[in-house]
Amino acid sequence: MTFVTRFAPSPTGPLHLGHAYSAMLAHDMARAESGDFLLRIEDIDKSRARTHWENQIYDDLRWLGVTWDGPVIRQSENTAAYSHALDVLWNKGLLYQCDCKRRDILDAAQAPQEGGAPTHGPDGLIYPGTCRHTHPRIGPRPETVALRLDLSAAIAQIETPLTYSETGKNEGQIQVTNPMQTIGDIVLARRDMGTSYHLSVVVDDAAQGVTHIIRGADLAEATGIHVILQHLLDLPTPIYHHHRLIRDEAGNRLAKRDDARAISKYKAEGATPNDIRRLVGLPPAP
Ligand code: GLU
Repeated sequence: MTFVTRFAPSPTGPLHLGHAYSAMLAHDMARAESGDFLLRIEDIDKSRARTHWENQIYDDLRWLGVTWDGPVIRQSENTAAYSHALDVLWNKGLLYQCDCKRRDILDAAQAPQEGGAPTHGPDGLIYPGTCRHTHPRIGPRPETVALRLDLSAAIAQIETPLTYSETGKNEGQIQVTNPMQTIGDIVLARRDMGTSYHLSVVVDDAAQGVTHIIRGADLAEATGIHVILQHLLDLPTPIYHHHRLIRDEAGNRLAKRDDARAISKYKAEGATPNDIRRLVGLPPAP
């Protein structure tokens, strides 16, 4: 089997050391396996994506010695594929319209718990199901509204085990457990985007033939959702490798706004690509 991996940055800020680690690790692994390393720009959030950040990503990656195979895919140009996947789920009766505001969700999530902390999943609060039965699920799929996945109905339609292979820290077969408690009815189409990170990433990884997903441990908890979507959309489940996160001196994860660790800053200060590799704990470029 050919090894195909990808780096999928969102152009919403400068690449920092954490992104560089992710990109170089995936690139090294692909090259070691004589596989393909793809680049995908995740720019569905038009309110935050910027062309100058995208151009900076290309410059930074080239400078780091990260070269990609084939054309760059931009998610903003792939909306028809997301729309099609939503239609498939809608036609299975698995999506419903949700009109809740953030505040409504917080109030409803807190209500039955008598002051107990509401449960959080990869997208924040686990949705309490307020709109689950308020809108009809028949007729054409509504657009320009938020659509949530009816997770318990979805799970009921899946007949094969919800597992995936993980290499790296949590090596082995991982089972997606307690999805209703850990994931809930997540939004698959945002009102402002017509899609969501989870839906787009699953559709694109399959369309690009990605066999190995190498990404930060912060995305490990999103993997359960992705595996569920792969089952519902009849797509293969790749092998996952969630790598350690690069942290600052205080032990915090690096954020997009952490300009001090932007790759362009190190470059401007005279660092070499191998200096960056050393900083993130990778051996010098082969
Ligand atoms: N676009 C996501 C990010 O920049 C990464 C998506 C992924 O690797 O699955 O955090």
